[in-house]
Amino acid sequence: MKLMENKKIKVAFPHMGTIYIAWEMALKKMGVDAFIPPYTNKKTLSLGTKNSPEAICLPYKLILGNFIEAIEGGVDYVSMIASPGICRLGEYGRNIEQVLKELGYNTNYVELNLYDGFKGLVDYLVKISGSKNYFKIINAIYLSIRTVFALDELQDFLSYYRAREIKKGESEKAFNRSLNLIRNSSNIKELSKALKTGLREISSVETDKKREVLHVDLTGEIYIVNDEFSNQYIERELGAMGVQIRRSLTVSSFLKDAIIPKIFKKGETHLERAYRLAKPYLMRDIGGDSLECISDVLYAKERNIDGLIHVSPFTCMPEIMSQNIFPKMREDINLPILTLIMDEQTGRAGYITRLEAFVDLMRRKKIKSKINNKQSEAPSSSDVA
Ligand code: SF4
Repeated sequence: MKLMENKKIKVAFPHMGTIYIAWEMALKKMGVDAFIPPYTNKKTLSLGTKNSPEAICLPYKLILGNFIEAIEGGVDYVSMIASPGICRLGEYGRNIEQVLKELGYNTNYVELNLYDGFKGLVDYLVKISGSKNYFKIINAIYLSIRTVFALDELQDFLSYYRAREIKKGESEKAFNRSLNLIRNSSNIKELSKALKTGLREISSVETDKKREVLHVDLTGEIYIVNDEFSNQYIERELGAMGVQIRRSLTVSSFLKDAIIPKIFKKGETHLERAYRLAKPYLMRDIGGDSLECISDVLYAKERNIDGLIHVSPFTCMPEIMSQNIFPKMREDINLPILTLIMDEQTGRAGYITRLEAFVDLMRRKKIKSKINNKQSEAPSSSDVA
């Protein structure tokens, strides 16, 4: 189905961190105009909240807010993802479509069905561009997948340098410059060059080599983990406290599990690891990212890192289940775990206080274990004799 004859259409999609760059690249390759609404902000949140049921989860409200801002900016189509899993996400698209109609917006709605994996992506691009040039479509998908991997790699670099930088904010500035380079590339060769330059830029940030950095994994519901506005810039806050964050749930790990055909995958995927590790606490997928979150606690422990933070939206059913399993895990595993529930009411001051207290706890635990190790290494008098 071709959406519009002889007209370059403008398509918008919701924000989730830096994912808009990968979307934009795929659409550009297909000759479609990607309309990028303003990055999620307080106005977006208020538009979404005003037009949503109170108890619905935060990502829904923010996505609706993004769409309203896009429509008011003159977009022709809004696209939404329907994704595999046993949670409300499958229903959100239709709800949002209905709400937009009730608000009097006549913008078209188009869904990207990730239940069908790679085929879902192909079908979406055919629908949105009207083109059945499969060579072009595969090229667009390949470029956007490689972009997602590049963005996640840059994010890892940012996290490393931000926790060690001497001048506050330098790594993030270099990261933002790198995003622009990535965004301006139009093929794989340019993308690889942009990534290399971006990584070099971030690594040139001056660091304090002696800083005692804590290592923390960030897990939870995928949208909140990857979207800075909804997690209240948690990585920036922790970076300033000398904490290096590793996102356990990334868009690239999701792509490996849901989109990339098996023959192109190397090693164990996140979901495969989740099934292997989560078993003593959770036997099956209960929707959202719960299985992955439970296994991420065990994976963090396996690597002996300093702690784990779990972020989730208020009323997210799968993550409520995870939070109910954590107390049992805390009894069995000596790993600091902090759970944070986000919604439009989450106040900044209390949030920062909780982060500071958690960092303090991890530091004291680390110092204590260093002292214990030293004591157990100290020679006895008979050794000296
Ligand atoms: S996983 Fe949770 S937050 Fe995400 S869509 Fe489902 S219910 Fe909402």
